[in-house]
Amino acid sequence: MWTIKKLHIAQWDSLNFKQNTGKILHKMSIIRVALDVPLSTLFDYSVSAEMRIEIGQRVLVPFGRKQMLGIAMEWAENSDLEATRLKPVTQVLDDVPPLPQDMLTLLRFCSDYYHFPLGMTVLSSLPARLRSVEPIVVKQSVDYALSAAGRAVEVATLPKRRVVQQRILRALHEAPRSGAQLRMLSHGAPAALKRLLEAGWVEACAPTSCTAHSFNDAHALTDEQRQAVEAVTQQQGYGCFLLHGITGSGKTEVYVHLMHEMLQRGGQVLLLVPEINLTPQLENYFRSRFPDVVLVSLHSGLADGERAQNWLKAQSGAARIVLGTRLAVFAPLPKLGLILADEEHDPSFKQQDGLRYSARDVAIFRASQRGVPIVLGSATPSLESWHNAQSGRYRLLRLTQRAVLPASLPTVRCMDVTKLPLQDGLSEPLLTAIETRLQRKEQSLIFINRRGYSPVLMCSACGWLSECKKCAGKLVLHMKDRSLRCHHCGYQQRVPPACPTCGDADLKPVGIGTQRLEETLQRRFPQARILRVDRDSTRNKGAWSAMRKQIHDGEADILIGTQMLAKGHDFPNLTLVGVISPDGALYSADFRASEKLFAQLTQVGGRAGRADKAGEVIVQSAFPNHPLFQALRAHDYESWAKTLLAERSLAGLPPFTFQALLSAESLQEQSVMKFLHQARESAEQIGAAVEIYGVVPAAMPKRANHHRAQLLVQSDARKTLQAFLRSWKTELVTLPSQKVRWALDIDPIEN
Ligand code: ADP
Ligand code: ZN
Ligand code: ZN
Repeated sequence: MWTIKKLHIAQWDSLNFKQNTGKILHKMSIIRVALDVPLSTLFDYSVSAEMRIEIGQRVLVPFGRKQMLGIAMEWAENSDLEATRLKPVTQVLDDVPPLPQDMLTLLRFCSDYYHFPLGMTVLSSLPARLRSVEPIVVKQSVDYALSAAGRAVEVATLPKRRVVQQRILRALHEAPRSGAQLRMLSHGAPAALKRLLEAGWVEACAPTSCTAHSFNDAHALTDEQRQAVEAVTQQQGYGCFLLHGITGSGKTEVYVHLMHEMLQRGGQVLLLVPEINLTPQLENYFRSRFPDVVLVSLHSGLADGERAQNWLKAQSGAARIVLGTRLAVFAPLPKLGLILADEEHDPSFKQQDGLRYSARDVAIFRASQRGVPIVLGSATPSLESWHNAQSGRYRLLRLTQRAVLPASLPTVRCMDVTKLPLQDGLSEPLLTAIETRLQRKEQSLIFINRRGYSPVLMCSACGWLSECKKCAGKLVLHMKDRSLRCHHCGYQQRVPPACPTCGDADLKPVGIGTQRLEETLQRRFPQARILRVDRDSTRNKGAWSAMRKQIHDGEADILIGTQMLAKGHDFPNLTLVGVISPDGALYSADFRASEKLFAQLTQVGGRAGRADKAGEVIVQSAFPNHPLFQALRAHDYESWAKTLLAERSLAGLPPFTFQALLSAESLQEQSVMKFLHQARESAEQIGAAVEIYGVVPAAMPKRANHHRAQLLVQSDARKTLQAFLRSWKTELVTLPSQKVRWALDIDPIEN
């Protein structure tokens, strides 16, 4: 995505971090430290002669009246501060290895590109545990291997009662194993291992970084899959590949084979996925394919300690496969050989606060920085990536067939809801289709992107609507606890017994959410086992994985869900997908809404008929002939993308232009507007070749009592935009912005 000059990356070896690039100086010198404070500078400290600091190390320094944890970024010849005012570094935290030089370069790039303070960028990339001064005990994993004596043992001659020992010896004959792997051999493995260690037949050793590993090769690749794998494995150095594969075409299998190849070459593989809910499932899957490869996951659902240990395993090179959500893009990987970004179009790759980075884009930069290939996979690539593939900047790899024959793509039907009577939002053809599935003992999924019972409560006498006092949104009716809840600020109240304005008791729920759909379907199909999957029903830890098991075990007939259910799950007995009221996106103010809807519906539709049963998708819409639905019916992403790109080009929108959004919020509406208008003026004075839009309210103009507005700037060259932003930023920080919180968002995406 970026044109990048070749960066010189110093040779380093993080396993032996004493050899790191940082100089160890023994005379009094000055070091520049990154701190988690909203200033764009680094901070200078003096280093005494006895203190050994390496670049990338965590240090404790005085800041104001506090001690703060920072990262040593660079040595300095001199400081703007007088020598007498330079404070010394308090302590060097050397319990974990320093951040390698390439990470520091990556973080500098991110700080620059996203116009976010360097110190905050560096610190926010670390797992929370590493941002605290509490000492970290790095858990050393050990493997077990046969000793010379052990190799000499004739396993078959051992007495029968030592069967577990025999099993361990046989396993170790193949390759060294971890304790966890040996435990999987038998309940008695720990005791047997102890005996073998005592006997001196087995010894503990450092985890193997040997390139041999076992690989469960489940499928013979299809021709298309093989071509995709070959294209990537033949790539020398950096190259960005867009793997466009229809749902069920076996993209995962391509990833698995690529991993296998890269592991054989001794490299580490980073796999980025959009959804934290998908990681445990994928983790198990990849473990089953690579049983003796160290794999760690990195996502926000992990406990702090575990996340730090996993991160350290990535940094030491011990973890060969790192699987994670967007934050994993900042894991240090000394032997990085390949990056995979699955569902690359997914908006969750974009962080929406703090360092507003796109993990996909950072991953592309990282791949080019490290000179390794990257594969972006999707059934519905983002228009940015598609455009880059069309222009030849990325290489397009196609999977056009479903991998499992005879599975074919589902038939898509659109029901015109303006012509059909609806029962609580459900049309008769959809109800009949569900009934047929119930008779055939197959599963149906009803997709609706609204949780709760009803999106709003209304008084039928005076027209009062349940609105959030703190936000510009409506309070959603939740039936379980008879509450009205704001999904934006979390405000919650009990359902009033009568209308707060006129006192009428006739309050009616308007519109349909997941809970109401559940009630309606249960009434209509009393025997059916219905499972609702949304953020409310999966709040408790483990709830979602329990539900997934239920679905797999055939203990649910009808699934009702939001987009949580749409992503990446493989439910073989699911043959019908119903889509309720997706129309909002067709005429939304967000120019990306229809791109997103197409991706979502393709993905949710892709859940139907994945095994040997044909699938069907029924979409209820008031605009059944909309080009989006035509393309969906024809499973024609390519012509849909072409249509959208033509529109974008005509309108001068991304990917043909590059945008940055200045957003601001404050308790006072006036202050927000004043700030943004001043910002606009200073933008115009810069006189760059950028288009400066007007100041407008945000899509959600008020949230949690804060008034929100924004200002968009765009340019047809990334470079021009970046140059403009650098000048603008220096102006913005000088503007009087009392009580206004503002932020710049580069390549913004609404979500
Ligand atoms: P995608 O991620 O592209 O939607 P998956 O990777 O989930 O598709 O693959 C869909 C199904 O096809 C899975 O059940 C997978 O095991 C199976 N599959 C993938 N590749 C092959 C192959 N070459 N031969 C047989 N089955 C395959
Ligand atoms: Zn009323
Ligand atoms: Zn609210």
